[in-house]
Formats: sequence, structure tokens, C-alpha cells
Amino acid sequence: MDIGRNTWQKQLIIDTLKREKNHPTISDLYDKIKAVDDKVGQATVYRNVNKLVEEKKIKRIMTDSGFRYDCDCNDHYHLECNKCGNIIDLYDEKYIRLIRRLEDEYSIKIEESKILFSGICDKCLNYERKSSSIN
Ligand SMILES: [Zn+2]
Ligand SMILES: [Zn+2]
Repeated sequence: MDIGRNTWQKQLIIDTLKREKNHPTISDLYDKIKAVDDKVGQATVYRNVNKLVEEKKIKRIMTDSGFRYDCDCNDHYHLECNKCGNIIDLYDEKYIRLIRRLEDEYSIKIEESKILFSGICDKCLNYERKSSSIN
């Protein structure tokens, strides 16, 4: 196996995720990667994505529309928009403190949280407000 190429592909996956910032599905991700490297096979990308998740270098998020991928491994919440389907990052200091407090209180280690809000994103809300003020 060509280790150099695998490392390069993993980096390409991370770079693409960082650039996209919109929590793509694996097939979106593959399309973007193929645009950069047209010789890359789907199975290879899928395998490397799974490896990166195992290595905790990227995150897999379970949403109503399936798995999405995130390069930000810091603790944060997500909102899935019911209108446009976008996944929005939500950061909150209190949330991080809550995790630490629960770990202390129950003597546990929280490795991952899967909190997903569903609602309407800021862009869709703005659009709704604008169109309702016109009518
Ligand atoms: Zn939206
Ligand atoms: Zn995120």
C-alpha cells in the first residue's frame, strides 16, 4: 500500500472539510475531493474518512438527513435547519463547562456528545421576515 498517498489523501479530506465548513455528506465530500484529484476512488475516500473519524481528527454527525462530517473537533452543538438543511455550528462556554462538571460529578469521561437541535437557521429566518414584510 502506498502510505504517502494515503496520508496525502487524508490531508486533502481535512482541507476540503475546512474549506467547505457546511458539514457535507460523504458523497458531497467525495465530489469535492474528486474535483481536486480525479484519480481518487470512492472506496479509498470512504475508507480514509472512516479512519479519520476513528483517529478523532474529524467528526461524524448523525442528522435527520443522514451522516454529515465536521472538521471542528472542539465541543459544540449543531442546529439542523428544517428549511434549507444547513447545519449551523453553535458554540457555548457553558456547554463545555457542563460537560466538565458532569465528568467531575459522576466520575466519568464524556468522549462525545450528540446534541442536535432542529429548527430554522438565521438566513432562512431573515428571508422569512423580509418576505412577510413585503406582503
Ligand atoms: Zn436555513
Ligand atoms: Zn460543527
